[in-house]
Amino acid sequence: MSRQDSDASVGGPNGEQLVEPGDAFQVLGNDVRTGILETLLERTDGDATSRATFSELFAASDVETSAGFAYHLDQLVGPYVRKDERDENGSDGGYELTYAGVRAARDIATGAYTRRVDHPPVDLDDACPFCEREALEARSTDNVVTVACAGCDRTLLDLGLPPAGLEAHGDAFPDALDRYHRDRLARMRDGICPDCAGSVSARLVTPSADVADELPAELTDHVQAELSCDGCGTTVRCPVALTLLEQPAVVSFYHDHGRDVRERPIWNVGPEWAETVLSEEPLALRVVVELEGDVLALYVTDELTVVDVQRSDGMDLQVDHTESPGSASASGGA
Ligand SMILES: [Zn+2]
Ligand SMILES: [Zn+2]
Repeated sequence: MSRQDSDASVGGPNGEQLVEPGDAFQVLGNDVRTGILETLLERTDGDATSRATFSELFAASDVETSAGFAYHLDQLVGPYVRKDERDENGSDGGYELTYAGVRAARDIATGAYTRRVDHPPVDLDDACPFCEREALEARSTDNVVTVACAGCDRTLLDLGLPPAGLEAHGDAFPDALDRYHRDRLARMRDGICPDCAGSVSARLVTPSADVADELPAELTDHVQAELSCDGCGTTVRCPVALTLLEQPAVVSFYHDHGRDVRERPIWNVGPEWAETVLSEEPLALRVVVELEGDVLALYVTDELTVVDVQRSDGMDLQVDHTESPGSASASGGA
């Protein structure tokens, strides 16, 4: 059975569960079969899957008899490998990876299920935003990168990075983490999940009690952005400022001051950012960034929509905490 067999009705998607997850993974429980997926992946060029013949796949394997090899290949046909019956040259037909086959083969090739990467701490160029210590540290443990301060023991972030990525970048893995997750965040901000392409909901949240215990006192009531996929559950919680870095007004504000906002790492967007809660129910924020006495203010709703932007050159824009709740409803586009 293949995707083409499903009888898609007009006007909407028509999903079909072909097999139970346990059965699908059981098929992969053999090194000859994972080897076949790897061989087919190596022949895949860009998005187009390339075919390989039975004899090519057999030759690339360590199996001694073609009958034994055929048994393993047959187990993959359906969920992971598609057999192309068209016989262009009068020789044996070709095999190619299905969508699931490409996904499984990439996870195998990048070590997602099989490799654990621990990296000793490396010093970052950025100082701790909470204490006097000059350099934060990044390390990886079991494919999860932690950025923390050895001075005050605070953890600034904990984020996964694929094992192959961790190994590819050596001591530069914090920079790779920064760019990788910045890109993922931008996609989530765009409403598309980077893991499953599902729909992402955005909202402002206050830290839950257990998280608040870990935060420094001045941040216990700190509002955060939460981006969450309705399909696979991928969820990111981060400072609201981090979700505003791609806003055209923010990019141009930094640019006009001779700075590149992309140089701000995700573990510390910089001391120039400040937030004011304008309304508790629903939550609404004014987020202000100040560079060389110039101020940019962004008004953010509980769904993380920027409803207004104000910019002042010089300090004529009020940035203290005296503005009354409700002023975030000012009209205007971002
Ligand atoms: Zn510190
Ligand atoms: Zn998802």
